[in-house]
Amino acid sequence: MGNDYYKTLGLSKGASKEEIKKAYKRLAKKFHPDLNKEDDASDKFKEINEAAAVLGDDKKRAHYDQYGTADFSGFQGGAGGFDFSDFSNFGGFSDFGDIFDMFFGGGRRRGAHGPQRGSDLRYDLEITLEEAASGVNKSLSLERETTCSTCDGKGAKSDSDIVTCDGCGGSGQVTRSQRTPFGVFQTASACPTCGGEGKKIVNPCSKCHGSGSVLNKTKLSVDIPAGVDAGSRLRLAGEGEAGKKGGPSGDLYAFLHVKPHKIFQRDGLDLYSDVPISFIQATLGDEIEVPTLDGKAKMKIPAGTQPGTMFRLKGLGIKSLRGFGVGDQKVRVDVKIPKSLSKTQKQLLRNYAKESADDIQANKGFFSKLKEAFE
Ligand SMILES: [Zn+2]
Ligand SMILES: [Zn+2]
Repeated sequence: MGNDYYKTLGLSKGASKEEIKKAYKRLAKKFHPDLNKEDDASDKFKEINEAAAVLGDDKKRAHYDQYGTADFSGFQGGAGGFDFSDFSNFGGFSDFGDIFDMFFGGGRRRGAHGPQRGSDLRYDLEITLEEAASGVNKSLSLERETTCSTCDGKGAKSDSDIVTCDGCGGSGQVTRSQRTPFGVFQTASACPTCGGEGKKIVNPCSKCHGSGSVLNKTKLSVDIPAGVDAGSRLRLAGEGEAGKKGGPSGDLYAFLHVKPHKIFQRDGLDLYSDVPISFIQATLGDEIEVPTLDGKAKMKIPAGTQPGTMFRLKGLGIKSLRGFGVGDQKVRVDVKIPKSLSKTQKQLLRNYAKESADDIQANKGFFSKLKEAFE
């Protein structure tokens, strides 16, 4: 025989479920790898979990008590196949209660009998860059399952139309006896007549046809805070589909998409834009107006500005969603070279060229250097 699960939990064979729970909680806390840094803590933790998974489950425990093994192959209806290696992935200690509930059938995992939480919904919402920057109120139109008002979610015409399932007598389970070389096994599975509900509806509600919920068109108003970006996700608690049998509603998640902007590109909190200027403005300098997200701003072009130079307009980017910090607007100048010139303009430029023979010489110098490099 392999592990002694009772010994692992420090218990005797007749221990009550309450004692098993207590022992598990105490030991799992002691050896949880997040809290206990000793080398063998994680192995010990696995052993404790394995022991609790078996002794905490009535069926598995009975099997283990009888045969001294937790090998459940061929054992129908049990919750076999739980992978203990997953425990290291559970991470933080806050998940501890969840692990615990899984073994002992706590509040989280209810069967078909209990209330069921409604599904979460996804809504894809496209907004403009301006709306993302300043925040906006949007109206969402959607269809979702809501509790049927005619039957109050029960699915039946009246309470007397819900009757006990005759296939299982209301337990939701059917048991079968199986003869094996080790003795007679009782195996349980969900009742095929009622699907494990234990109840049947004889006269279904005419509005929802027994499902307890109906598809409804709904409009929701949502405030989108300033500073959101593409990929932001807003959760609207309780605005998903209705729960079943008194279970809570699911949540609605609005996924934000931002339309491409004609002028601006966004990178984090910063905005980028190009502005065209003439080569005269670049050469002599000027003060120009540039578009900003909420209007215009003046920007100085110093004399001798090179093509592609990036200027920064401090604080004209996006305000942070969390309320501290604001981005900049970066403006790149695009120096335009005229494509057609009048006779006079050409003459003036030729005169300019004569006047600046040195500059042209400098350009020639660059090419002779280039030539040397390849010789
Ligand atoms: Zn109904
Ligand atoms: Zn049944």
